[in-house]
Amino acid sequence: MKYFSLNDKNHKVNFETAVLNSLGPKKGLYFPQEIKKLPQQFFEQISSLTPTQIAQKAIGPYVEDEIPPAELSKIIENTLDFDFPVKAVEDRVGVLELFHGPTLAFKDVGARFMAGSLGYFIKKGNLPGLTVLVATSGDTGGAVARGFLKVKGIEVVILYPKGKVSEIQEKQLTTLGENITALEVDGPFDTCQNMVKTAFLDPEIRQHKKLTSANSINVARWLPQMFYYFLAYRQLKHKDQKLAFSVPSGNFGNICAGLLAKEMGLPIDHFVAANNENNVVTRFLQTQKYEPTASVQTISNAMDVGDPSNFIRILELFSNNFEDLKKNLSSYSVSDSQTKQAVKEVFENTGYLLDPHGAVGYLGLKEFLKTHKDHYGIFLETAHPVKFLETIEAVIEKKIPLPPEIENLKHQEKKAVQISDYEDLKNFLLK
Ligand SMILES: *Cc1c(COP(=O)(O)O)cnc(C)c1O
Repeated sequence: MKYFSLNDKNHKVNFETAVLNSLGPKKGLYFPQEIKKLPQQFFEQISSLTPTQIAQKAIGPYVEDEIPPAELSKIIENTLDFDFPVKAVEDRVGVLELFHGPTLAFKDVGARFMAGSLGYFIKKGNLPGLTVLVATSGDTGGAVARGFLKVKGIEVVILYPKGKVSEIQEKQLTTLGENITALEVDGPFDTCQNMVKTAFLDPEIRQHKKLTSANSINVARWLPQMFYYFLAYRQLKHKDQKLAFSVPSGNFGNICAGLLAKEMGLPIDHFVAANNENNVVTRFLQTQKYEPTASVQTISNAMDVGDPSNFIRILELFSNNFEDLKKNLSSYSVSDSQTKQAVKEVFENTGYLLDPHGAVGYLGLKEFLKTHKDHYGIFLETAHPVKFLETIEAVIEKKIPLPPEIENLKHQEKKAVQISDYEDLKNFLLK
């Protein structure tokens, strides 16, 4: 499969190059040249296939023989090494739980698939080692660290803001060792991100190290997110009902992968992009004007994005046709107080515990279902509620028990290198 750059449609590369480079010239995002429909028969038989078989069928056309089928199958099996259950929450409302991976957040899938693909290309081409350099405000770093742990030829360096990530998140970043190093930065997240950007442009560093990023713009992190929707559909008993999926959205990579699955023939009638107060897309669907803003801080902080990088891919999926887009996608925006209220009410009425991101997804879905009486809706739970322990416990006025893997983490020793400015980072990378 060829991928073109959304900045320059004549610039085309194969899957391997798109994965190794992350971005095209002038920071253009890569997009597959062709989206093929899967045969009807595949969807009719989907419940009899294993998750690995389904995922391989879905992503196969985007990888082709650049990764041989047996290798691809191994990468997928390792990626999907946990459950993705759909559970009933209320009448006409189900939840797809994406938090059963090692860091309890849905980013585990994209990070693992990207690590597997990069690891394969490095081994095959005998390429010199790569350094994955990431700045994190919380979840991304943990998922990337875990996904790339022990992958040969790849060193991972993660910058995180001192005192600004939760205790659990910090332990997930700083206790792995091996090929993972955490740098604790004396400054806010923006400082971490700026240091990373500066390093990517620094000729002295580029001479010594091949750097790559691991955020959701990379096709190997973006595409495997379509697996969730196929695996959810596989579990549904009544496959003939009209389906709507509500996706808590920040950078819009996850929902864009869902829309791609729909274009490939997966029978989902409609998508809801659920936003917190960072609602540039909600406003776009009302006014047709795309007006990015600085992000505002909310309790669903993984979605605090003012200018979502993957939205341009969604526009491309619908050939920039606004009417077509609106037929497939709605968007609602909710406040922190509505989010807390939903966590409280759903817990009291059903016993189901939402995290703040899932609660935004739930509210978006409920809004959609008000005017669409014959749909069955599924919202995505993108993180385990214990990752937002303080917020959730304050809302439900109860203690939540920790899962054993988190309890164990608490007893492990933190190892981080303290840095305070760009020179420190540079010295570390050139050492
Ligand atoms: C990253 C993240 C999101 C947003 O996903 P996008 O693909 O960036 O839209 C939502 N919830 C959680 C918990 C996340 O970590």
